[in-house]
Amino acid sequence: MTVALHSAESPSPARTDQPLLEGRGVSKFFGGLAALTDVDFQVYRGEVMGLIGPNGSGKTTLFDCLSCVQRVSQGEIHFKGTDITKFKPYQVAHLGLARTFQVIRVYRKLTVLENMLLSLQWGNLTMRNKFRPNSAETEARARQLIDFLLLKRVTDEKAGNLSGGQQRLLEIGMALMPDPDLLLLDEATSGVNPTLIEEIKSRIRILNEEQGKTFLLIEHNVQFISDLCSRVFVLNYGEKLAEGTPDEIMNNQEVIEAYFGAEAGDDDGF
Ligand code: ADP
Ligand code: MG
Repeated sequence: MTVALHSAESPSPARTDQPLLEGRGVSKFFGGLAALTDVDFQVYRGEVMGLIGPNGSGKTTLFDCLSCVQRVSQGEIHFKGTDITKFKPYQVAHLGLARTFQVIRVYRKLTVLENMLLSLQWGNLTMRNKFRPNSAETEARARQLIDFLLLKRVTDEKAGNLSGGQQRLLEIGMALMPDPDLLLLDEATSGVNPTLIEEIKSRIRILNEEQGKTFLLIEHNVQFISDLCSRVFVLNYGEKLAEGTPDEIMNNQEVIEAYFGAEAGDDDGF
């Protein structure tokens, strides 16, 4: 890949001691329901970290808090050394954090290219100023990313006509448009056929290793986690249950029980 998908000043993926993203005692209550309780975690620059947990364990809620779509009830979130706990979504996006959603959010009646261009207008990202909507530079960037994400053939196709996997790739492309440092991907392999899962994996690897992007991945696919993640942390009933390498996590008795124990009969595995 020779095209520059990142700006020249993008940092290298060297791990430093200061976390890129940090949650301190994060709690989120919905009325009487504790979706998250006192969760501490760190994501370091240059890593691909996994976030797993049974259905309903609070993973998406944590992403909502990190992207400031939801306000935490207690605790603090720091990104790049800045306290973003009370930020608005556009402010945290502007600082370089991007996310995708468990339920795919693309404009089904717009083309792939139009979706990519429109993505910059979400949350007032024009303020970022680096890539202005509808400038020639922006369109060139959108086309580069479309090519990189293997969507060139469907550039002018309506997004609603794409396969689930292609829509996931498009969402990743939309998240990449403002050149974020950190991407939070919520179940990027869900509803995706095995061939495209491999493609998504390879794109994440290139973005991480060659472009210096940091990832936090909510994921149920064990192989995907093992292949990509250096560390994984596990939520269960809104609390942090474990943290470690993929191997350590898959062999952790408490984690196995959380997924396959008596009360977890209706989940879908890891
Ligand atoms: P996961 O992504 O791990 O499956 P979620 O974060 O979606 O879990 O949900 C965690 C818990 O919080 C669930 O019990 C869910 O019903 C609840 N929850 C999530 N969002 C809301 C909301 N906006 N209002 C009320 N309850 C919510
Ligand atoms: Mg979820």
